Amino acid sequence: MRIVLLGAPGSGKGTQAHRLAESRGIPQISTGDLLRAAVTRGTPLGLQAKAAMESGALVDDALVLGMIRERLADPDARAGFILDGFPRNLVQAAALDGLLAELGQPLDAVVQFEVANDELVRRISGRRTCADCGRVFNVLTSPPSGAAAVCPRTGAAHRLMQRADDNEVTVAERLRVYAQKTRPLTEFYRKRGILRVINAEGPVDAVAQRLADALTGAPAATPAAARVRKSAAKRARPKSAAPTKARRGRAARSTARRAKPARKAVRVRTARKKRAAAPRRRKSGARRGTRR
Ligand SMILES: [Zn+2]
Repeated sequence: MRIVLLGAPGSGKGTQAHRLAESRGIPQISTGDLLRAAVTRGTPLGLQAKAAMESGALVDDALVLGMIRERLADPDARAGFILDGFPRNLVQAAALDGLLAELGQPLDAVVQFEVANDELVRRISGRRTCADCGRVFNVLTSPPSGAAAVCPRTGAAHRLMQRADDNEVTVAERLRVYAQKTRPLTEFYRKRGILRVINAEGPVDAVAQRLADALTGAPAATPAAARVRKSAAKRARPKSAAPTKARRGRAARSTARRAKPARKAVRVRTARKKRAAAPRRRKSGARRGTRR
């Protein structure tokens, strides 16, 4: 099965992609990993990417697509793949579509991970990666404990680092970019009839189950909200094909009402947390600086 996982930073799609890849025996293809691997191996595309990264330029889409094309040619991708972190915008989505059509490997499903914004901020600001084994923890939601507290690389406790862009200051900006650039992909794939939406809040196991259900097409996978919207739409449609002006106005107003407080809440939380966490983070920032 060929799958794309879509979700904001902190939606947990990386974790779920990893689990899904293991359970299905298909590779998880992350463009970040592809870039790092290509640079390390010194492939022609890797050398180009390295030059771009060293000059501070963004690695362009053609280069990333070239890497995806190479990766999909590997035998383990024949049974399918999980693409995580690509596409991030409509241009990339269209380019990916073209590539996959050319390879005769069109996508089977695109799963959108839904998580409320304030929860995303909370998750991202708690995220830490072990500098030795690379395992990702969350000091707020899944701190190292029990056997998992011992680093398989060093036999000691994991050395937890915060990624430079996982602090509260940049999270709001990353979420804004996501909403502007990546969010429209939902509509892009919905129109193709391959979009599935899951509620990605709650325990990792529960989300994994919802993801599995979504991929087998079980109706339980649809989050309650989307289910209500869908059935409401179904009920409304036979009565009048086009929504009335009043109905459209009501919908727009209720959307605005829902969206506004959420945005405000994020901003307030961010500012408050920034002040509270500043001294502690400065310390880990210094440590981080030596590693990255
Ligand atoms: Zn470790």
